[in-house]
Formats: sequence, structure tokens, C-alpha cells
Amino acid sequence: MKRFDGLNRQMVEQFAPRPGRRPLLPPLSEKAQVALMCRMLFREGWNEHIAGHITYRLADGNILTNPWELSWDELTASDIVTLDSDGQIIDSEWNVTPAIGLHLQLHALRPDVHVVIHNHAHWSGIWANLQKVPPVYDQAGAYCGSRLPLYNEYSGTFEDKDTSLSAAEALGDARWALLANHGSLVVAKDLRQAHLRAITLEWRSKRAYEVLVAGGATPLPDEEVDKLTIVDDNGFPFCWEAMARRELKEDPSILD
Ligand SMILES: [Zn+2]
Repeated sequence: MKRFDGLNRQMVEQFAPRPGRRPLLPPLSEKAQVALMCRMLFREGWNEHIAGHITYRLADGNILTNPWELSWDELTASDIVTLDSDGQIIDSEWNVTPAIGLHLQLHALRPDVHVVIHNHAHWSGIWANLQKVPPVYDQAGAYCGSRLPLYNEYSGTFEDKDTSLSAAEALGDARWALLANHGSLVVAKDLRQAHLRAITLEWRSKRAYEVLVAGGATPLPDEEVDKLTIVDDNGFPFCWEAMARRELKEDPSILD
């Protein structure tokens, strides 16, 4: 199979905005970007009621996250909570889940990680419950590489410090993980990269489940999956923006 290099950095630069082209998105605050991530991922299957947390570590060390009380498909930019690096709330009346410890530990263990996403996502959750890693059957399931660790020592919720620390350590240098009988975890250097990883994990998991139910097929070998991995670490060009526009069109109040 030919190496998939159609989305490398040079190619992306070639598509840099030309004079006169309308902006892909309006100017967005960092809180608005986190709110948009919640909305976008809720639609993709990261949608277990009010469960789930996204953390985004800013350049000053503070961390933005979603409030505990609100579901990902209703919150707006002003609902996003700012925490200090110890997890103390700086600027909100909302609460933050006690399970935030997993995120704080991951941010501390992985300086390269600025975004951590955890939820009991629909499709990847099926594979976490099966305690199996979904095979990759197509190009869109291969965007983030073949390696997908399965952490299968479920010993309680992440409100327990030791449980969350062992999960954070088990992730090692991986991009994502399935947490057996629990849910899914994605880490990334920024929101765009995190978005691609989160949607690819759900795509891969959904397709693999559907192929399984349809009677099975031959998956792509790992070495071919790794050739298909997007080499531009900024993610799939223009995808984040397109999915953000979809949310803004449906509910412009996200920016409030
Ligand atoms: Zn959880």
C-alpha cells in the first residue's frame, strides 16, 4: 500500500488562507474552544449524561474544564471553569467532578499533554466492556495509528486517587486508551489534536463493531494502519473548524 502522505505539513501550508477568503471561524476565546469541544464530542458519542471531563492546560498553568452539573451538549463558554494547577476552582460557581484527579495526574506526569478527555463514550465503550481492542478496517479509523492500550484493571471510579494514578501511569506515552468496563481516555498536545484522536477512536470503534455484527472481515494490518496515520500533528486539516461551524450554526449561544 502506498504511504498516505496527502496531509503532511507542506500540503497544509499550501492551503494556507489566501487573501479574501472568509475566515473558517470567528475569533474564539479559549473557553469558547473548550465549550465547542464538549458540543462536538457529545455529538460523536462522548455523551454519557453528565459524565466526562475535558481539561485544557493553558500557557500560564491554569486548567479549563467543564462543570460537573451540566451535560456537554448544553454548556456555553461562560460555564467553563478555570482551575489552578492543584485543581482549585478560580472563577466559577459551578462544581468540578471529584474524578478530576485523573486529569491533574496526567497533566503532571505528561508535560507534553495539554488536553485530557475522559468519558464513557458510546462506541469505544462497547470495546472497553468487551475488553478487546477494536481492529481498524478503514482509512478514517487509521488516522491516529494502530497502538491502542487496554487498561484492564478496573478497581473503582477515578474519584479514588490510587485508581486514577495507576490509570495515568498505565497510559505511559500513549495517545489514548480503553479503560476496561469503564470508558475511554484521550490525551493530546492541543484541542485540534485531541479532537482528531477522540473522533477517530469512536469511528474506529463504531466501524469495528458494525463489521463484527455484519459477520466480520479482514482488518488492516498494523503496519498498514501506521502508514495511514496522519503525519501532521495538528490533526486533519480544516476538520476541527468544520465541526465547530456545525455546532455554532445549530446553537450560536455556545459563545455566550
Ligand atoms: Zn469515568
